[in-house]
Amino acid sequence: MAVRKERQRMKTIGMIGGMSWESTLVYYRIINETVRARLGGLHSARSVLYSVDFAEIEALQHAGRWDEAQSILVQAAQALVRAGADLVIICTNTMHKLADGVAAGMTVPLLHIADPTAEAVLAAGMDTVALLGTRFTMEEDFYRRRLEDRFGLRVLIPDAAQRRTVHDIIYTELCLGRIREPSRQAYARIIDDLVDRGARGVILGCTEIGLLVRADGCPVPVFDTARIHAEAAVAAALTD
Ligand code: GLU
Repeated sequence: MAVRKERQRMKTIGMIGGMSWESTLVYYRIINETVRARLGGLHSARSVLYSVDFAEIEALQHAGRWDEAQSILVQAAQALVRAGADLVIICTNTMHKLADGVAAGMTVPLLHIADPTAEAVLAAGMDTVALLGTRFTMEEDFYRRRLEDRFGLRVLIPDAAQRRTVHDIIYTELCLGRIREPSRQAYARIIDDLVDRGARGVILGCTEIGLLVRADGCPVPVFDTARIHAEAAVAAALTD
């Protein structure tokens, strides 16, 4: 009886993952840990994962072939819904460039990664934050504008050379599971610069950056989008 009640209460989280799988692992772990912390005992998350081939996605991103990437994500989202997902998350910041198209292509809610992130920043009493991520996330409007227009945040990004460093480390190291001390130091220098420019916190706006940048090594609070998004998905799954 209790089991049936829990089953009714907990929605099924659909994850579009594999971008990269290094961070999808983090999502899977945090989602299950959070459900266990919330419900206790042997409880774990009801979830469905659709994991794409990241080589294909990365090639489309860098060739600017976003329509084709969108078709892949829409198919993934629809497959998750057919498999029973009650809500869907895209486990990467960058691919939220396609969030509107993905949301329009399915029948259940899409939980946008920027929204719980901005709420966490505001809850920490901050209005000026740095944003680190791929060059798509840092430079284009789809992410920053959402933080600025919907939540009133002031968003600082690194300068052009620093953005290249941040971007390249994501694709040539972090998405391959390579965690290197020189890259950690490079990120630390870039964060220091942004703090000097007025950032009171740092959004780790790429789901792999939390593998490299540690909160305790940072001069200001960090907002790890992978963790925030995963926890928000659980909160949504446990809400009536
Ligand atoms: N996971 C990264 C992000 O959060 C980058 C990989 C991708 O391009 O999707 O943006």
